[in-house]
Amino acid sequence: MLERLDKSQIFDSEKSYARVSLSWKIPWSVMAPLSLLLTATAIRLYEPAIGTEYRLQIFDRYQQLSPRVPTDVPISIVDIDEGSLARIGQWPWPRQQMADLVDELTALGAAAIVFDVLFSEPDRLSPARLAELLPAGATFDETRAKLRDLPDNDQAFASAISNSNVAIGFALTPNPGPRLPELKPRYATKGPAPDPYLLSFGGAITALPVLEASASGYGYLTHTVGTDEVIRRLPLFVRIGETVYPSLAAEALRIAQGASNHATKTTDPASGNTGRAGLINVRIGRLIVPTDPAGQIWIRYRDSVHTQAVPAWQVLSGEAPANQVSGRIVLIGSSAVGVGDFGVNALGDLTSSLAVQVQAIETILAADYLARPDWMAGAEILFCLVLGAILIWILPRWGMAWCAGLALLAITAVLGGGWIAFDRYRLLLDPMYPVLIVVLVYLSGAFSIYLTTRTRLIRTTWLVEHDVLTGCLSRRTWYDRAITSLEGCAERQRFLVAVFDIDFFKKVNDTYGHVLGDEALKHMVNIVTQALKAGASFGRLGGEEFGLALEVVPDQDESTDPRQTAADVLERVRRKLEESPLPIPDNDNHQEIALTVSIGASFPLPLESLGDALNRADKALYSAKESGRNRVVFG
Ligand code: GH3
Ligand code: MG
Ligand code: MG
Repeated sequence: MLERLDKSQIFDSEKSYARVSLSWKIPWSVMAPLSLLLTATAIRLYEPAIGTEYRLQIFDRYQQLSPRVPTDVPISIVDIDEGSLARIGQWPWPRQQMADLVDELTALGAAAIVFDVLFSEPDRLSPARLAELLPAGATFDETRAKLRDLPDNDQAFASAISNSNVAIGFALTPNPGPRLPELKPRYATKGPAPDPYLLSFGGAITALPVLEASASGYGYLTHTVGTDEVIRRLPLFVRIGETVYPSLAAEALRIAQGASNHATKTTDPASGNTGRAGLINVRIGRLIVPTDPAGQIWIRYRDSVHTQAVPAWQVLSGEAPANQVSGRIVLIGSSAVGVGDFGVNALGDLTSSLAVQVQAIETILAADYLARPDWMAGAEILFCLVLGAILIWILPRWGMAWCAGLALLAITAVLGGGWIAFDRYRLLLDPMYPVLIVVLVYLSGAFSIYLTTRTRLIRTTWLVEHDVLTGCLSRRTWYDRAITSLEGCAERQRFLVAVFDIDFFKKVNDTYGHVLGDEALKHMVNIVTQALKAGASFGRLGGEEFGLALEVVPDQDESTDPRQTAADVLERVRRKLEESPLPIPDNDNHQEIALTVSIGASFPLPLESLGDALNRADKALYSAKESGRNRVVFG
């Protein structure tokens, strides 16, 4: 009978547990990492600025770990450096000096001379301008006239420029300027017009018209002043209004090759099946430069380009080494603080705009291109979704330890893959996002598995330790605890062991049925455990028999016999049950089931085992039954 009832109880609770987990369908160990994965994907798609910035910093780190290895490309720097300023005088120098620089470099056979300098104002040191600075009055009239007759510095510079192959620059501005720069090259386009894809500016600060007219090349200078951004990319072309303008770098490469036009190759999803819209590459003379859709290249930096610069004073004094000039693109600018513009490059170094131009042109000449194809972001997101999904799927199957190893392996593979992609193929892959996904998915999955397991363990432990019907201790646990308590008990004569047996319980079952019989058992346990003080172990030995183990605490009166105290406790419990009949539920006559209990008790003798003490208690119980039930008998 007992077996049948208990089994059906457990069976029932298992069924209801299965129902609960079925109705959830997706367990937490999947729900938690899955929702995190989807949230992370949504955030990645939304692309907050902090994410972009972080990714770019990783790409910078790649370059820092493996900067471009310098190769011999035909480009040189003429630097208006501190030494030149010390020898020749403060900046700006008279344009005559600039004309001399151009003449000297032309004589040495420069393929192209490129000024990373904005000549937007007329030269203040032109003789005619100096004449205006002279005091009024007849004294200076003659000098004034002579000065006015002298050739104009800007004119001299312009004629030097027109006699050579020179590119000069203009500055881009967000707002429209007084006039637009002159457009030197022609454009050939393959595919749709590139205009919509290029960066757009409002206007420009142009060079002096006379210089503009005589230069072969004319392109925009890089913006480095006032930006706290790292200079990573160079747009080869931009748009001002409807007109496409070339960069100084693109113009330098064009005039050095004697080419007259730039060609852009563009695609859009409608015309091709590549799925990308924008520029593919740019053709400058014989060079084909792959770009991103906006026509930008990633500048591949190498360490310190200035080490090979020729100081401007050397050129002016005719001491420039010819092999540094002949047949080369010569960039003129300044690395001197207060003259040149400065910014921070991808290697984290403070760099002059002159150096940025050189690095960009070198990148193109060395064809050392970094690429982040536009499918890359999509591929990264897809990869992360697949990786996350796999991890979510195997986590509950393989367990936390194996998956920790797998997650570490995935992280290593992603970091290694990112590095190999850069080092071998110059591809800019973002490893941080996949690493973040792996960590998030693993931690959330593992944590929810841990929580679920813990909850189950607590539940299972409770089921093992307790009687499922009445909630008191199970026979096994009661016995274990009683033994432990007995071993830890200092005075054995205070350790009370008692066996409870409900009187005429069979009759209760027969009269009211088993369901009410069960209720009566629960009721009895409730009353007894409430009546007992904390520290008592009360467990179901089987059927309607229960065991009690209790260390009897002496009353205020130390001399009281523990046996007497124990008898009082048991008597109180017995009476309490006697006085608390079980009301029959839903009974109109308010009928009650009277319950009484017979109790056999004993105190373990010195060296006596708990089992033997229990046997004595059981015998005492028998006597209690014999002598009329509903009483306490000590054995
Ligand atoms: P007494 O102990 O006073 O001599 O009489 P009794 O009627 O209690 O006799 P006995 O101990 O032999 O009967 C125990 C009865 O308890 C038998 C069984 O039907 C009933 N019983 C045992 N376990 C359960 C249970 O889990 N639920 C219900 N409803 N009854 C149980
Ligand atoms: Mg019995
Ligand atoms: Mg009984």
